[in-house]
Amino acid sequence: MIMRPIQMVDLKRQYTKIKSEVDSAIQEVIDNAAFINGKAVTDFAAALSAYTGSRHVIPCANGTDALQIAMMALDLQPGDEVITPSFTYVATTEVVALLKLKPVFVEVDPRTFCLDPIALEKAITPRTRAIVPVHLYGQSAPMQEILAIAARHKLHVIEDNAQAIGSSYRFPDGMTQKTGAIGTIGTTSFFPSKNLGCYGDGGAIFTDDDALASRLKMIANHGQSRRYYHDLVGCNSRLDSIQAAVLNVKLKKLDEYIAARRAAADFYDNAFKAHPKITTPYRAPYSHHVFHQYTLILEGVDRDGLNEFLAGKNIPSMIYYPVPAHRQQMFAASGGGNYHLETTDWLTERVISLPMHTELDEEQLQTISAAVLEYINKN
Ligand SMILES: *Cc1c(COP(=O)(O)O)cnc(C)c1O
Repeated sequence: MIMRPIQMVDLKRQYTKIKSEVDSAIQEVIDNAAFINGKAVTDFAAALSAYTGSRHVIPCANGTDALQIAMMALDLQPGDEVITPSFTYVATTEVVALLKLKPVFVEVDPRTFCLDPIALEKAITPRTRAIVPVHLYGQSAPMQEILAIAARHKLHVIEDNAQAIGSSYRFPDGMTQKTGAIGTIGTTSFFPSKNLGCYGDGGAIFTDDDALASRLKMIANHGQSRRYYHDLVGCNSRLDSIQAAVLNVKLKKLDEYIAARRAAADFYDNAFKAHPKITTPYRAPYSHHVFHQYTLILEGVDRDGLNEFLAGKNIPSMIYYPVPAHRQQMFAASGGGNYHLETTDWLTERVISLPMHTELDEEQLQTISAAVLEYINKN
């Protein structure tokens, strides 16, 4: 038998296994013509609330909107500072600038790729209002430290949980909470390739605070309190019913999907174990890693050479992310270039992500890791 082609994410094969369930869920939405705010959406919000333990789940159009609506609901004023890691996907930092707030970029811990609490506290000024930890690659940021700093300085915490839905954080007292349900507000994305992905765009916002939840709901719906009465300036950000129908099916499989990702990560870890040029992902004892990405740090390896070598064998690999926020042109005018984030730059030059999804089999994992080792050991 010929090996299946290796992809970064194999959504097609995942779909074939749930096709009948997904197809009938989508068909039901069409049959009922409840395309917007239908039962599928309310069912999904309730199911996600139960799954995450977050009291309120407000579905919205995508993960970027979720972040924007979160910041709008906290009533931040132009010039207020919002601290984010520089080592993240652009959406985290972009919405800060879009709302005329000031993004302040801080370092990550090179082991976890998440916000470094020491750097975070140093970056706080009298204008700081919020912190946005990103649970990058599927692992929780160190929330105990971040919450303690936020409490000391009276700051909001918005968790960008787009990459870590299903992950959890264990507090020193043993209490465990799902990521996204820990801070003042949590946000996530259902972009197809995310761990819980729909078949288009989607997102959600999480909070335990009743008053905040009603503000978030209003803002996502034109600031409307009752029909045609608009109390706040809002936006139009909805999860449509067809996407919610897909998500209802996939949420039931999420833990199974996470287990498959973790098994693939175990395979890779074992293959690259103790290699002097390869650092495999650190697994923080406080976090349940859900491996949105499997990301290596390479030392003394020509990364572009490896990427090309793998591509020549039809094995994709990606750099997440080649340019950190503080080096993006969009922040040049707002002082992005003035940062010296050595760890972030160091990581940016050394990380590489390998194929990671729910459908990887042993033969594929073996092929990928053998190819990586072949290149690294020869060069
Ligand atoms: C994907 C992602 C987002 C944005 O989600 P969209 O649904 O694409 O808008 C935000 N933050 C992080 C860390 C992400 O990975």
